[in-house]
Amino acid sequence: MKNMIHNKVNHFQMFAVICSLFLLLAGQALYAEKPYAVVIHGGAGNIARESLSPEQIEEYNIKLAEALNAAEEILKAGGTSLDAVETATRILEDSPLFNAGKGAVFNIDGKNELDASIMCGETHNAGAVAGITTVKNPISAARKVMENSPHVLLTGKGAETFAYEQGIDIVDPGYFFDQRRWNQYREFIRNNVNRSRSDADLKNENIKMGTVGAVALDIHGNIAAATSTGGMVGKRYGRIGDSPIIGAGNYASNLSCGVSATGHGEYFIRNIVAYDIAARMLYKEQSLQDAAFHVIREKLVEQGANGGIIAVDKDGNVVMEFNTTAMFRGFVKSTGEKGVWIFEE
Ligand code: ASP
Repeated sequence: MKNMIHNKVNHFQMFAVICSLFLLLAGQALYAEKPYAVVIHGGAGNIARESLSPEQIEEYNIKLAEALNAAEEILKAGGTSLDAVETATRILEDSPLFNAGKGAVFNIDGKNELDASIMCGETHNAGAVAGITTVKNPISAARKVMENSPHVLLTGKGAETFAYEQGIDIVDPGYFFDQRRWNQYREFIRNNVNRSRSDADLKNENIKMGTVGAVALDIHGNIAAATSTGGMVGKRYGRIGDSPIIGAGNYASNLSCGVSATGHGEYFIRNIVAYDIAARMLYKEQSLQDAAFHVIREKLVEQGANGGIIAVDKDGNVVMEFNTTAMFRGFVKSTGEKGVWIFEE
């Protein structure tokens, strides 16, 4: 009798082990088939090839690759697109090479005012912060707004208080200082003293803009998008650009695509650029490529507006469209395709 029970237990145990193995393998096969993709940018502008030395190009490429690799690790391990875009954006924010977080441009008063937003394509929930001066990684504050508040966009002191309460790293405003940006600011002041800038001035200054962003599709089929910026050099009167405006500089929906933008923010707001691309896919059944091409290369160009976008659709197609001579950018897909670029190909 004792033996019979023992045998039964053994059979049951074996059956359980086989079932678990089967489930594990089936799960792995399922994951292996699910596509993931992540695309990042570090701003667009009319940059002459000769203005960057081979060492500088290398420096940019290394930082872009670092952000891409960190995001890919998360996606490969079955992590979420939200974690992937936040991680990539933080790396770019921490680098003085890009106009976001450390190394952000200076406003007219010689201060760094930062904007960021993040959106989840599954829930259509979103969070953003604008005009902040003491939050080390604005994108993480934006995520807290999305996840831990009933609001979408918090600005200035209120946003900083909220970030502090949420345990986000707070720094002295001096942390964001970068000598290269300061020189750029001094030059700006010399050229613009006692003079208010026209729309044409702003258009010519796009080289002094820049923004960072990331968009990802995870193996669970969820899209997320993140955008973070210091805005435009010499901005005044509490100016806020498109980057923290959901639908303009950032958007994500599992129904269509995720988009992160960079460029002349006022035009991106007026044209609701990120959402326009998603809406074209949804209502006009355009491909991501066609929708992005129309908005960036036709619509914005007709208006004389500079900039670009990165985007991923629900099938893992990646688009990087810009109407300037350069956009710091890169992507990686589960298919193995991978690369980083600066200039037009
Ligand atoms: N879009 C940003 C802004 O207008 C700047 C940029 O992306 O270059 O604030």
